Amino acid sequence: MDDSTRRRREMVEVQIARRGVRDARVLDAMRKVPRETFVPEDLREFAFDDAPLPIDAGQTISQPYIVAVMAEAAHIGPEDRVLEIGAGSGYASAILGRLAHRVYAIERHQVLADSARTRLERLRATNVRVVCGDGTRGLADEALFDAIVVSAGGPEVPKPLLEQLAVGGRLIMPVGEAMRLQELVRIVRTSEDHYERESLGQVQFVPLVGSEGWSADGTPLPHHRAPSPSRLRSSQRERLAELVAEHCEPIEDLERSSLDPLISRLADAKVVLLGEATHGTSEFYRLRSRITRELIEHHGFLAVCLEADWPDAAALDRRVRGGAERPLREPAFSRFPRWMWRNAETEAFVSWLADRNHGLESNGLRTSMHGLDLYSLDNSIGSVLDFLERVAPRAAEAARVRYSCFSPWERDPQTYGRAVSSGRMEACEDEAVATLEDLLEQRLEHIAIDAEGWFDATRNATVIREADRYYRAMYRSAAESWNLRDRHMMETLEAILEHRGPGARAVVWAHNSHVGDASATEFARRGETNLGELARTKWSDAARLVGFGTHTGRVAAAATWGDPVRFMTVTPSHEDSYERICHDSELRSFCLSLRRCPSEDLKMQLEAPRLVRAIGVVYRPETELLSHYFQSSLPRQFDEFLWIDETSPVTPLPSPIAAGDPETYPFGL
Ligand code: SAH
Repeated sequence: MDDSTRRRREMVEVQIARRGVRDARVLDAMRKVPRETFVPEDLREFAFDDAPLPIDAGQTISQPYIVAVMAEAAHIGPEDRVLEIGAGSGYASAILGRLAHRVYAIERHQVLADSARTRLERLRATNVRVVCGDGTRGLADEALFDAIVVSAGGPEVPKPLLEQLAVGGRLIMPVGEAMRLQELVRIVRTSEDHYERESLGQVQFVPLVGSEGWSADGTPLPHHRAPSPSRLRSSQRERLAELVAEHCEPIEDLERSSLDPLISRLADAKVVLLGEATHGTSEFYRLRSRITRELIEHHGFLAVCLEADWPDAAALDRRVRGGAERPLREPAFSRFPRWMWRNAETEAFVSWLADRNHGLESNGLRTSMHGLDLYSLDNSIGSVLDFLERVAPRAAEAARVRYSCFSPWERDPQTYGRAVSSGRMEACEDEAVATLEDLLEQRLEHIAIDAEGWFDATRNATVIREADRYYRAMYRSAAESWNLRDRHMMETLEAILEHRGPGARAVVWAHNSHVGDASATEFARRGETNLGELARTKWSDAARLVGFGTHTGRVAAAATWGDPVRFMTVTPSHEDSYERICHDSELRSFCLSLRRCPSEDLKMQLEAPRLVRAIGVVYRPETELLSHYFQSSLPRQFDEFLWIDETSPVTPLPSPIAAGDPETYPFGL
């Protein structure tokens, strides 16, 4: 017996049979299929471990035990036709191939489908066919199936799969509201229109991505189908739209119409959070600029905090408040999604703020700009080291050694998160924490030399600590990593206010999904909080949450994460959405106060949860209802709602990389 065969037998005995898998045919298949040929070459030595392992395209080959549990639960007989969704490496397909008459395995990533096919051919698994495509639609041409095994986790069982299951057939699938934690369920079709469902326990699978699964954009936007929201008959909607028209404050001209009533409702706030319903709509930026300018000029707001990375926004801050230029490892705003802050609308605001600040004598009166986000591992490490080299070269050396823990991954922290989560390397948490603690301990020495520099460095060291946690949490649950990110935003906002001095007040620019109170939305059910909710908890009424919405128009967004920006048409709003009510008011643009709603009747009627749309840096009109609408109670989510019926895309500025020109943004055009 060769070494691999021996180790496979041991794997089956220790990890599978002893844990209760009894089916002799399953155990035999697990002994025979050479798992070692399905894992990446450099991980062969771990092929028999009791764990999933990373494969190409950011996916995993399932843990052997789970493959056995699923195969056993599917009760596969030698005459059965089986459909597998999520072929991945092809390992489970090979096991199923040994149990069934015929197996159809669908995989959405072409590279994986191709290599699985090659491996299965080499093993002469001639009864297994691998198809590349979206498995959430099933394989209608080959239906019905006696068993369907889904190797990725979805928010619910895709309908086409239920339809393609033969009467008497078994469907095994991880189902759960969190993207990376599910319940393994078995569904048996007992008759033409009756299904029985049972739970087989908690599991963790990579997400099932497709038209009937999660959306692929990697952004923490809503992904799953909202359970039926309140529906309005068209006559009710008309009546509600009339009430909106009657009680809102119309904005005829975005640049010139008075916003005084709105400004007076925001003026005394501690923090004003200004949202946006997309990450690429010109009107949202322009309206936020107008409001923010008024708050700065007439009401003394001292900080503007963006949903942007700290070091990048620090470059903006140096432009608006002055200060030595500090080159970053990667130029500011040079990464995807570049258009989000590298656009003409932001530039116009920054340029206005620079001019205004310039005319003020005291630096303490100048309004600063900051970033609340945590995606800047590389630039933040560079910035901490740069500061320490200037003020404390010995400490710089220690920090450099510690941060070298991240070295291979600085530019690709997601891979770091995966490597740590899969147990291939140790986390760099201690190193990140220790550097931050040193900075805090040396506060007095450092601020004597450069107070602004010290604040900047401690914020960057905090980003590094939180980024470490965030990228690891990403591999556990979408809700956990989302919460970590928004808590970091909150902590950063509080630190900025403290730094700017007692009584300092701030404006935040971020997506509606961060700014609107999450407890009023379906995300609360998934255990998610956000900046808006945390701000309300801390400052209650002194936090004002302002949402934005649109019916149609065009938007700057990408089709998939990492793709170039495109100008896409925004589909007219859904008939069950708040947007449709606003649209039916027949006003081009308005502000509706929800907190101080002039009509109790209107407010009450708006409170029943309905759909609301969120477009992020990725927009997929083809799956819009599933990937971009979620349920919310608007008057509880926002204090004010700004409506622009038809919108246009932001104007992206040329990027230094594409043009090869000397960098101008953010240092002035
Ligand atoms: N059983 C596989 C597990 C792979 S992980 C193995 O042991 O190797 C799950 C796989 O599902 C991933 O490769 C992922 O790309 C794929 N997947 C996710 N959503 C899919 C979909 N809608 N259609 C087909 N494959 C999908």
